[in-house]
Amino acid sequence: MPPLAKDLPLKVESTSLMQQPKTFFIRTYGCQMNELDSEIMVGLLEKRGMQRIQDEEAADLLLFNTCSIRDLAERKVMGKIGKLGLKKKKSLIGVTGCMAMAKKETLFRKLPHIDFVLGTNNISDLNSVLDEVLETGKQSIRTDNQFEENLDYLVAKRDDPVKAYVSIIRGCDKFCTYCVVPYTRGQEVSRPPESIEEECRRLVQAGYKEITLLGQNVNSYGKDKPEWNCLFHDLLYRLDKIEGLERVRFMTSHPVDITVELMQAIRDLPSACEFVHFPMQAGSNRVLRKMHRIYTIETYLEKVALLRSIVPDVALGTDIIVGFPTETEEEFQETYDRFREVGFSVAFLFAYSARKGTPAFRWKDDIAEEVKQDRLHRLLELYQEIAGADRQKMLGQEVEVLVERRNRDEKHLKGRTRCWKNVIFSGGDELIGTLQKVKVHSYSHQTLIGDLVEGKIPSTLELLAN
Ligand code: SF4
Repeated sequence: MPPLAKDLPLKVESTSLMQQPKTFFIRTYGCQMNELDSEIMVGLLEKRGMQRIQDEEAADLLLFNTCSIRDLAERKVMGKIGKLGLKKKKSLIGVTGCMAMAKKETLFRKLPHIDFVLGTNNISDLNSVLDEVLETGKQSIRTDNQFEENLDYLVAKRDDPVKAYVSIIRGCDKFCTYCVVPYTRGQEVSRPPESIEEECRRLVQAGYKEITLLGQNVNSYGKDKPEWNCLFHDLLYRLDKIEGLERVRFMTSHPVDITVELMQAIRDLPSACEFVHFPMQAGSNRVLRKMHRIYTIETYLEKVALLRSIVPDVALGTDIIVGFPTETEEEFQETYDRFREVGFSVAFLFAYSARKGTPAFRWKDDIAEEVKQDRLHRLLELYQEIAGADRQKMLGQEVEVLVERRNRDEKHLKGRTRCWKNVIFSGGDELIGTLQKVKVHSYSHQTLIGDLVEGKIPSTLELLAN
């Protein structure tokens, strides 16, 4: 009888050439947390003298920082790495990220040509796992689901010179029934505020103007460490004191943990941007209960109303899942109606896909694909209608734009407003990294188009100097 898959040895001879790799190529899938983890891994590899290159064919090491949140994301990366196995293998191949955590050693069985697997909380082991593979010539895996307290955030090598991600909390304790994150990233662990402040200060000194604080649920920040006496809104007050830090954003939030104190901080702090990602997920109480979202649609809407009463010009973003198991047409209609009622400015809309290892995976995925796609399409049309009306209202207005880069058309500069709206306008490269006032004259799809208003907005540093 052939051995069962679970009885196969975990470590097999690596087929790679065991030479010190000099160059690496990294591809990132998924969310901002993964982008930041990739930036840290780039920094770690450069620290050992390796050079990042964009030519996948020529690189000595290929790193795939993967995502597990949707089936499609997983299939894409499995297909991509699978194809590499068909070629004569020249490079070392490492798989990191959520798929590494979800699939662990089974990845070696599905993709026998990969050399190592590194979990989300083990990225600081990157160089030691690489050394191990080079020394032993065997495959290696590290996926202990413990937060790496010693993760060196300061090593992160960022591509964007204007705005940066900063991790403040890892993991999630909420256990929504459709989500793999609590299993792939583990329980919530907050990062000490001093360490966050230090990183933000260094970023500002290096010229960064905008920082996005990252976590699966940033609003839980500090609850696991009551002795710090620093909850999320306290952290915002501390960061606002950093001279030269123009904008602070954060994502993502669980509606249950959004407090009045946080709303007041957004209203009162000059650096806190008036945009809150406030994921509703569904508009029906039965579906919300089945998702284990731990709020009702009534309490959700009450919080939205409270936030708008405290921060009247706040823009709201959401995630929505349509076609959750057993969702009826009437329940979808409730989501549709609540979406219109709130009038989200930014929305990430998804058709449900079952994720192995989650409670919902045990339920029948009983909504036909064409029904899911039809609901998604209707919601997308509503979103576009709302976004169009929103942009129409902005015609003639002057908005503050942080100029990020040259637009893809090369003719315009591109930036974002405080409420996360894309803006393009004509101007020279010297404006990149500055705050500018732009008068909106038109829009196309999701982008506002405007003209530079003479006289740039003074930075907080300039204001303090006068
Ligand atoms: S709060 Fe977000 S990250 Fe946490 S389980 Fe729910 S969907 Fe996943």
